[in-house]
Amino acid sequence: MKVKKIKDLLIGSNNPGKVREIKRLLSKNIKVSSIIDYKLKSPVENGKTFLQNSYIKSKYFSKKTGKICLADDSGLEIDILHKKPGIYSARWGGKKNNFNVAIEKVFKELGKVDKNWKNKKITARFVCALSVYGPKTRKIHAVAKIEGRISNKKIGKNGFGYDPIFIPSGKKVTFGQMKFFKKFKMDHRAKAFKKLKKLL
Ligand code: IMP
Repeated sequence: MKVKKIKDLLIGSNNPGKVREIKRLLSKNIKVSSIIDYKLKSPVENGKTFLQNSYIKSKYFSKKTGKICLADDSGLEIDILHKKPGIYSARWGGKKNNFNVAIEKVFKELGKVDKNWKNKKITARFVCALSVYGPKTRKIHAVAKIEGRISNKKIGKNGFGYDPIFIPSGKKVTFGQMKFFKKFKMDHRAKAFKKLKKLL
């Protein structure tokens, strides 16, 4: 059966920066709008995985608007912390979503499991999950990762979130030290969108 191409897509995010970034990552032939215009609150993200949370969001916003919706969920997994902060990556920043607070928490948690962590290779990865849900549309999803390690100090002023402490494999600098376009081309989101575009 030939599946109809998606021409209209609602982005399930209230973050204008993220919506802008997603528009750039999708094909120019897709008309993109966002839930910012609908003044909708986000649903409770009570999934156990990034994929479940992205699915919860895309289904919720699609049901509310009747449109085909794309939602994402992403975060940082640190192996020695049993993949934490994981789906709680944003929540580690507290109510104000303060990334300095989140990074301090990472350092504190690492210190608790290994006092000598700063001299070790602390493997980690960013994960991005994307889900598309809509009426008369098959469910579509993609998950991608970028492997790397945690820097023993915060370096770099670019990017957001955990960028100043994440060094991607094969590189010597953190995402926080990289120019926007360099990170934008290689990160977990770019990889997930590459996979998703093939399915849309
Ligand atoms: P969400 O996917 O918008 O819920 O964001 C999850 C959280 O994961 C963000 O608030 C950041 O703390 C973190 N995160 C996700 N992707 C990145 C990234 O590319 N760089 C740095 N932090 C990220």
